[in-house]
Amino acid sequence: MPNIASFHDSLKKGETTAMETVREFLSRIEEKKHLNAYLEVFKESALAKATEVDNKLTNGTAGKLAGVVVALKDNIVYKDHRVTASSKILEGFESLYSATAVERLLAEDAIIIGRTNCDEFAMGSSNENSAFGPVLNPLDETRVSGGSSGGSAVAVAADLCHVAFGSDTGGSIRQPASFCGVVGMKPTYGRVSRYGLIAFASSFDQIGPFTSNVQDAALLMEVIAGEDGKDATASSKPVEAYASTQLNGKKRFAYLKETIEMDGLNSEVKASFMAQLDQLKADGHEVSAVNFPLLNELVPCYYVLTTAEASSNLSRFDGMRYGYRSEKATDLESTYKLSRSEGFGPEVKRRIMLGTFVLSAGYYDAYYSKAQKVRRLATGRVKDIFKNHDFILSPTTPDVAFKFGENADDPIKMYLEDIYTVMANISGIPAISIPMGTNKLGLPYSLQVMAPHFAEAEMFACAKALKVGKAAVE
Ligand code: GLN
Repeated sequence: MPNIASFHDSLKKGETTAMETVREFLSRIEEKKHLNAYLEVFKESALAKATEVDNKLTNGTAGKLAGVVVALKDNIVYKDHRVTASSKILEGFESLYSATAVERLLAEDAIIIGRTNCDEFAMGSSNENSAFGPVLNPLDETRVSGGSSGGSAVAVAADLCHVAFGSDTGGSIRQPASFCGVVGMKPTYGRVSRYGLIAFASSFDQIGPFTSNVQDAALLMEVIAGEDGKDATASSKPVEAYASTQLNGKKRFAYLKETIEMDGLNSEVKASFMAQLDQLKADGHEVSAVNFPLLNELVPCYYVLTTAEASSNLSRFDGMRYGYRSEKATDLESTYKLSRSEGFGPEVKRRIMLGTFVLSAGYYDAYYSKAQKVRRLATGRVKDIFKNHDFILSPTTPDVAFKFGENADDPIKMYLEDIYTVMANISGIPAISIPMGTNKLGLPYSLQVMAPHFAEAEMFACAKALKVGKAAVE
């Protein structure tokens, strides 16, 4: 899989064209259809954009991402194209506008090739919650791709696009990236506009890239990040030169003692992580263990707050305004009830009920308000750690990709998949997952680098400088 720079080299040398590249991806997507990574391929608009890009290349007016073939998770909207959040409730719905991130990609001449499968409304850790079937892991088709952005991870891992985008509310970019052996990055909350991202939990959600290497992720972030008049939570801080920042001097790395003492941590993943720390020490960096006593509180805190936000965000899907409406409905109330009952899948229903419960008058203080306090304490602790450290390291997930069905009947076990990733969303910091190694079965696991708010430039530089497993960093 070429990186963006080498792809651009071959465009320049005339070894390929945007049109040829799109056609190649289209035939590979067809060949790998059984993986179920794409819900829809935008053949017509992709070919039209390829023609436009090839003309611009001839005239010397092509943008920074000329001809780069991009897949979008099915919760990021693209004008005049369908989008469903992998839910039956949005079946047939077509977006009237594009997400800001999509506008910016197109303005730099990227080509959007299709929308990828995901867990319904981005709720899940295995892609088994999609209304359109699970996504197979290309490295072992009996295993999950991870979730919720499984389709985007697989699209990159199986060479079905150059790069892909997903959304990360609690790990949905980093966890599937880890399971599929690719790079996945979650920006600081507010670094990328959420305009046009179908909301799951608004104070957690961020759009971010999946790539085969760190450098491409940095390039993409330079394009999509930044202020946006359409999203008041998008920060006006200037976007730094993510792709060209270097790591200067020796750094101070922290790792959380509780993460490596955890029961569920696979011994191979742990050994590889410890070897990574030793390597950093050998290279002259400072590495220290710090305490994070709230680790076990993070997952409950995350699920209370995100389900609360989801129950409110998803109230707009009522059978009146978008997509699916039950044919059995006879009046307004039965339209709401039946459309929602028939349109939403079981995990989404579970979360709406949980969220409604934690927000209810009688339980608000016991759950929602308490979880907000945990969020504040955890964020405070993260900020404290960054007073004396430049980065926090952890494995991305406690284990490698699991088999289909393995966690499906046990929501709590599934929720614990997120133990290492939710910290970044709860506190709003950026994080990147990079392949660290593979186990005896050839299944990948990853290293997660977390950095202070808006320290993306240093984080990318650090990720590039790390001597990690098979990750091609540039
Ligand atoms: N696995 C987490 C969940 O199910 C994360 C989802 C996400 O980041 N969108 O909520």
